[in-house]
Amino acid sequence: MIDLFRRLREHLRPRPAPIDDTTWTQVVSSCALVAALSPNAARRLRELCARFLADKQFSALGGAELDDYRRLLIAALACLPVLDLGYDYLRGWRQVLVYPGEFRVRREHHDEDTGVVTEGDDTLIGEAWEHGPLVLSWADIEQDLAEPHAGFNVVIHEIAHKLDMLGGGSDGVPPLPRSIARTEWIRAFQQAYDAHCAAVDAGVETAIDPYAAESPDEFFACLVEAWHSAPTQVETEMPAVAALLQRLFRPDPSATAI
Ligand SMILES: [Zn+2]
Repeated sequence: MIDLFRRLREHLRPRPAPIDDTTWTQVVSSCALVAALSPNAARRLRELCARFLADKQFSALGGAELDDYRRLLIAALACLPVLDLGYDYLRGWRQVLVYPGEFRVRREHHDEDTGVVTEGDDTLIGEAWEHGPLVLSWADIEQDLAEPHAGFNVVIHEIAHKLDMLGGGSDGVPPLPRSIARTEWIRAFQQAYDAHCAAVDAGVETAIDPYAAESPDEFFACLVEAWHSAPTQVETEMPAVAALLQRLFRPDPSATAI
């Protein structure tokens, strides 16, 4: 029944304004991850971007500059992970806040051993709040454009947190399609996470960002950004996790092949 209502709502939803050719061409030429899509996948991404721009509210903070190109670029990167999952996976939040570079936030730190809570400033390049805004550093988005296959992508990383939180809380388990059992997902990710933490603790150099050892939700977000920007890194180091990410994000790989 819920599906029926959702489909009806989709049907009644006004069509978002289409993306103009000039700005789309600008995004394709600056973003290798978008340029690599098949014509069919690129067309679908462009439609998702139109929905994203109609649905989300962008704000420039701290002197950041936003124009049509920047908004569309952020939309394209945000929609890449949901290209096959569908726009519904980006539901439940509205705001995109963009800073010119790194930004500082006041955080409470809870020491699990002593129980002591301290306050301090953190410097971040991106942040995703449950039901709240997606916060991004423009300088770091540009850095990702310059090195598209380095395994890092701040927009995709924060969208991964959004997908994770959509499944309830931040535990590294997003809503899964019926074809993936929750136990299968948890087993593969837990094994890979434990191995990664052990390698980082032992000072071993890892292809995957050592920051992924921070917590299961950061592990998931780092693996999602690495899988989108440097998939062979993940396939080589964590094949079981790579296979699950493939089944989640590109269930039919031929559909997005160049
Ligand atoms: Zn994160």
